[in-house]
Formats: sequence, C-alpha cells, structure tokens
Amino acid sequence: MELHILPPDVASRIAAGEVVERPSSVVKELVENSLDAGASKIDIECRRGGIDLICVADNGSGIPASQVELAFQRYATSKIDSIDDLVNVRSLGFRGEALPSIAAVADVEVSTRAAGEELGNYVYLHGGTVAQSEGRPRAIGTTIAVRRLFRHFPARLKFLKSEGTENGHSALVVSQYALAFPLVSFSLLLEDRLALRSPGSGDARDVVAQLYGSELARAMVPVELSADSLVITGLVAPASLSRAGRGHQSTFVNHRWVRSPLLQRAIDDAYRGLLPEGRHAIAVLDIQLPADRVDVNVHPSKAQVKFADEQLLFRHVRDAVSAALGKTRIASEAQHLATPGTAARQTAWSVSEQEPLGSSFGTFSMAPSAGSTSLPPLRILGQILTTYIVAEGPDGMYVIDQHAAHERVVYDRLLKQHGAHSPEIQGLLEPLTIELSPAEDAALSGLMDELATLGFALEPFGARTHLLRSIPASLADSDVAATLRGILQDMSQGGQGESFERLAESIACHASVRAGQQLTPEEMRQLVRQLEECAQPRTCPHGRPTIVHFSVPQLEKLFGRRT
Ligand code: ADP
Ligand code: MG
Repeated sequence: MELHILPPDVASRIAAGEVVERPSSVVKELVENSLDAGASKIDIECRRGGIDLICVADNGSGIPASQVELAFQRYATSKIDSIDDLVNVRSLGFRGEALPSIAAVADVEVSTRAAGEELGNYVYLHGGTVAQSEGRPRAIGTTIAVRRLFRHFPARLKFLKSEGTENGHSALVVSQYALAFPLVSFSLLLEDRLALRSPGSGDARDVVAQLYGSELARAMVPVELSADSLVITGLVAPASLSRAGRGHQSTFVNHRWVRSPLLQRAIDDAYRGLLPEGRHAIAVLDIQLPADRVDVNVHPSKAQVKFADEQLLFRHVRDAVSAALGKTRIASEAQHLATPGTAARQTAWSVSEQEPLGSSFGTFSMAPSAGSTSLPPLRILGQILTTYIVAEGPDGMYVIDQHAAHERVVYDRLLKQHGAHSPEIQGLLEPLTIELSPAEDAALSGLMDELATLGFALEPFGARTHLLRSIPASLADSDVAATLRGILQDMSQGGQGESFERLAESIACHASVRAGQQLTPEEMRQLVRQLEECAQPRTCPHGRPTIVHFSVPQLEKLFGRRT
C-alpha cells in the first residue's frame, strides 16, 4: 500500500479509540465537562453497564445554541486558545476531543440551554453527524445521553467485562470526582439503583461517609500543609484501618483525579512501618499548585501528570501525611482496639478430629508422598522473619513461604468446592454487616452467583450494605469482611478475564496468612500438612514457588564439605 493520509472519518475513529476505551471513559469525559461548566449538581445514569445508556445531566453554564454542533467538531474547545494557555490549564478538559470521539462510537443526544438564552436546544447525532436539531425548552444546563456505545465496534464490545464490572469502573470515576469536588452534589444511578449520592456540602468527610461508611469517615484525620506554593489538603485514615489494595487511595492535582506513582510512594513513606505487608493506606489528597508547575498534557485520558519539582512535592506530601498521622497515632490505636471489625485477623487453623492431638513440633508430619510434585514428610523447625517456615526433610532443608503456601491450600479447596454439589459452608453465628463503596457494590452485583456457589450467603441490607450469613468453610479462620472487600477491589479493577479461577485466586490471596504474621508451631504444622495434600504443592496459584529446597549435596557444597 502506498503511503497516504487517512480520511478524516478513519482518523477520528482512531482518535476516539484513545479517548473512549470503555463506558467509564465516557462518564469521565462528560462529568469533567459538567465540572468545567461550573455545575453544582451532576446526575449520572448508566444502563446495561453503560452500553445501552450513559446520561449525564448538569446545571452548569450550558452550551449556546449556536455552538452545540461546533462542540462536536474535533479540536473544538472553549477552554484554551493558545500554546500559552496550554501550559496554564485550569480546566479539566482542554483538547476538544471528547465529544467528537464519543459521537464517533455511539449515538448522542444533547439537550442544553445557556444563560441568557430564551429556549434550549436539542441535537441528535447519529454516526458522528447531526441527524436532528431543534429548539426545545430546558432549564439552564446540559444533558448528554450516549446510547448504543460501541454498537458498530464488535472488537471493543468483546473487550468489555460484565455489566457489573463496567458499572464498577463508572462508579469509581464518579466517586473520585465526588471526593475531589465536595461542593458539587453528585448522584449516580446504576441499572435504576441509586449507587451514590453526595450531599455537595463542601466537606470531603461527608463524601467519604457516603462512599466508605460513616465509621471510616469519622476515623480519618485531616491533612493540611502549605509551603513553596503548594497547598496539600485531604483526609487520611489511621494505619489500623488499612485496605488490601490501593482502591481507597485517591489523589488529585488541582482537583484533577490522577494516578501518580510519586504520590503513592509519598503516602507509603509516611505509613512506613505502620502497615503490614500487602496492606495499603486509605487516603484522599488534593494537591493544589500553580498550573505551570504541572504538565497535564502527558496522557491520552489525562490520568497522569508530570510535576516540575518532584522531590519537593514528594517531601511535602510525605511530611503532610506523617504529621496528620502523628497527631492521631494514639487515638487511632485506641480505636483499633475498640473496633472488632478491624481487629487483627485470627490466624489459627482449627485442629480437625482426624488429627492426633498435642503439638507435633519436632516430629515428622506424615504425608503420603506420591509423584514428583508431592512433598516428602517434613519436620518443622520454626518460623523465620515471620514470613517463612523452615523444615527438614529426608533429603535436606526446606523453606516455605507461608503466604504462598496458604494461598495454594485455599485455592485448591475453593476449586474442589466449585465442582461439588453442595459446598461446605460455615454459617456465621452473628451475620456480618458489610458496607461497600459504590464501586465495590457494582462489582459485587456481577459476582453474586459465583460467590453463592462457593458458600457466601449475602443479603441486601439497605443501600450498599449487605448481611453476610455464611462463608465457604475453607475461609473459616480468615477475616472474611476484609477478604470480601479485597476480592471486590480486585474484580472491580478488571484485568485478565473474569474466570472462576481468577476469583478463586483473588479469594485465596486475601484470605491467606500474610508475611509478617507470627504462627504457632501448631499452625505451621497444619499449614504444611494441608500443603502436602495439594496436587500442586510447589507453586502458588500465580505460579510463584511455595517452597524452596536445599538438598544435602547443595548444603555440603555450600559449606565446602564436597566439591
Ligand atoms: P474540551 O472539554 O476539551 O473543551 P469536549 O469535546 O469535551 O472538549 O467539549 C467541547 C466543548 O463543548 C467544551 O469546550 C465546552 O465548550 C462544550 N461543553 C461540553 N460539555 C459541556 C457541558 N456539560 N456544559 C457546558 N459546555 C459544555
Ligand atoms: Mg471535555
């Protein structure tokens, strides 16, 4: 083929692909536009995961009738004029790409009225071109309805996950903007259910209460620092209220939601030594800095930014969070003890009746050893670094990673349960009340069936609150609320497919003992015994080793007894 320039319709479809990756990208762009238009109220709705409908209605400044069609042209923006403006962007949008990109992959209806205009305007775009345009009454503001997203893009449709997962992404976007703009009142309807309503009170703590529950909101402490033309504000939770993923860390730069490894590291640094391995802080931070100290034009969906003074920013963020934590360390510890839901997880494996009573510490654990992958009988010597179990076998020394080994055990049991007609269930004496964030709740709706087949009995109990009445027997000794939350976070982040294996991996990871947890000799013996019963005891479900073997010849070589 000869070198040539692509026709505009092909070029715009390619560009659309970058902006509109999935339904939540549309939600993000439309919400950003509403915020740029100065709205104080934004109502969002998604149907069938956003494929049938995404509708965003605001009470912002509206689009003048003469400009509605222009807004759907590429590079049409009212927000910047020149290169100089680009280095001083204060608005969330500035590229003039979102509306044309959305119209290239969906049907769009706009209904808008600008201040000072008598009548509103209605425009319908089909296949990227205007199919209908007429005057229609509307209050000042804008409503944009996006229908049949990706209908003519089967490759994109195939790439999308379940409706629940897609709704989870959209809920996350709305949640983040609600946190960044506490003065704006947001509502989000997912499949006709109210997933979120933020009061618009101006207090981020009220939004946190809506998203993560009032208990957490009350426990969070304010962050405040201003220095070197930086203003850092926000809320952080005491270390006792950590989470398994980073899903509860929100970072904003001039109210723009960004993912920033630099800011994550600064938060981690402030919590250093306070959190066990694999746990993450809960934080909401907004960094205000002069617009020319940050480049917002470095990422296709503007989700990342580049800072002029990284070192300075890192230090100030870390210090601001540290200072906030320092003030409340003592209070938070007291809270930790008083809140049963956040108490340290139990680690005990119960002794089952087959098992000989009394500690078998110092004896060989008896396991059938068949085939090359199975384990030989091991005598447990102890735990090192509160992470590894050291054992002796007939042919040398074994070091077992307690987390990886436990993951394998739980994973295998879950897979076994999955095939079983009636899973082994552990009923809870007191049902556990679990409050979920909108994103977690949306993810849960897509997982209900799978979770039920495993033995999780969940009942709706008010908006985004569920009663957990039973759990899979294999998770009896874990902190189930934390496990469930961890699973929902993993699954709401999408990733490689939505197979049952992925769910089981996620459950196994969150329900397993962590590095850093002290184990009793009995617990270690139980764990190794359970590992011996697994068909693939030598790797965890992710394929990492559970056990490392130093053979007798290897040891002899290391000590120069043999060459
Ligand atoms: P950008 O946000 O980068 O300017 P968009 O394609 O998202 O580009 O929007 C194009 C233009 O349409 C905006 O610059 C703005 O003038 C107008 N617009 C879009 N949405 C709204 C809205 N909700 N309220 C008012 N004006 C809007
Ligand atoms: Mg925009």
